[in-house]
Amino acid sequence: TDTDTADEAVRATCDDASICKRFATSKGYWKDPYVQYFVRSVGERKAPEINRGYYARVQGMNHLLDAFIRKTECDCQVISLGAGLDTTFWRLKDENLMPRKYFEVDFPTVVARKIHNIKTKPPLSKPLIETHSTDSLLLDGHSLDSDRYCIVGADLRDISNLDEKLKKFQLNPELPTLLVTECVLVYMTPSQSSRLVHWAADTFHTAMFINYEQKERFLKAGWEHADALDMMTVYSVLPQDDVTRIERLEFLDEKELLQQLLQHYSICWAIKDKLKLGKGQLGF
Ligand code: SAM
Repeated sequence: TDTDTADEAVRATCDDASICKRFATSKGYWKDPYVQYFVRSVGERKAPEINRGYYARVQGMNHLLDAFIRKTECDCQVISLGAGLDTTFWRLKDENLMPRKYFEVDFPTVVARKIHNIKTKPPLSKPLIETHSTDSLLLDGHSLDSDRYCIVGADLRDISNLDEKLKKFQLNPELPTLLVTECVLVYMTPSQSSRLVHWAADTFHTAMFINYEQKERFLKAGWEHADALDMMTVYSVLPQDDVTRIERLEFLDEKELLQQLLQHYSICWAIKDKLKLGKGQLGF
């Protein structure tokens, strides 16, 4: 059907994101020793503007994510919605910033591919086994559940099914919770993404929601506090010594295209703070 074809195109976007991240890391924009296990080859050259755009996106998202995890002293959970082939779990493990549990959700077929890679690549499976205490690690074709890392196949447009599956895997509504959507809500209708954002606000009393998207699609329904920065601004507030370093990697004589590109996107974050973590240090 048309819906199946459209959904298939959406699922394929996880490859695009990881292919671009693989290329940028091969150029030295940032380090990701794990993306190679999800994207086999470095692939075609990408324009420097694209690489810098991904640099700002990844560093900007990491900045907010790490701030939340530090603030809660890792006594929190993270839910990456539409995680695709993202490698953040392994980065957090390497940086000693692992939350109590890291959840990922994506379409069942994307999840099946990710799990297959994890099963067959020891650098991916080892950290998972190391952080698991019992012998009851669940690893079938469609879901993975260990003590610290869980991957669930579900459609984000079906909220009751999503809620049920996450709770089955010990999602704890009482724990400070970080929800992340990186280029995901844009693939849903406004009412579908609004339901998802509302569900998050209704489910957790102390939480932060980080969304990377095109600027226009900003939502704050049900949240106490929300902020957004366009990516041009994010780029200018990232640690400037590192920005200087990456600007030397590839020559860019015309800055205008980069500015236009960055201005089309934004990071938005929303907070609910019953436990009074303090929202001051959670932004930029
Ligand atoms: N967040 C990852 C990143 O930035 O590298 C992947 C981004 S990719 C552009 C979008 C992801 O959202 C895809 O993996 C896609 O399958 C997932 N996605 C979109 N709509 C979804 C839905 N209704 N249910 C589950 N996953 C969805």
